[in-house]
Amino acid sequence: MQELTPEQSQQLQTRLHELLSSLQQQLEAAAEGARTVQLDQSSVGRLSRMDAMQQQAMAQATVRKLELRLQQCRAALTACERGDYGNCRRCEEPIGYRRLSARPEAPFCVGCQR
Ligand SMILES: [Zn+2]
Repeated sequence: MQELTPEQSQQLQTRLHELLSSLQQQLEAAAEGARTVQLDQSSVGRLSRMDAMQQQAMAQATVRKLELRLQQCRAALTACERGDYGNCRRCEEPIGYRRLSARPEAPFCVGCQR
């Protein structure tokens, strides 16, 4: 896989900053959703218990997914500061621009992700 050019690296770094704030907003909204379900279940009782539990489990799964992406995003920004952004954290080969432009926070190359 090809190493990133300085322009590509700069562009992805800008996208990482945007992604970071977008993920933080999504996480706040998702965490709010997870709490709301709990409230509905105890105070309103409109949803059946099963529905409420299912909705809450889904909201919690979303929260976990967002937290993971946020963590990867922060790690990628730290890598930018160190100057080793774009390299796989397992095999240390370049991840490649195509994959990073789809997912700028990706910590692994396609091979190691599997
Ligand atoms: Zn790898």
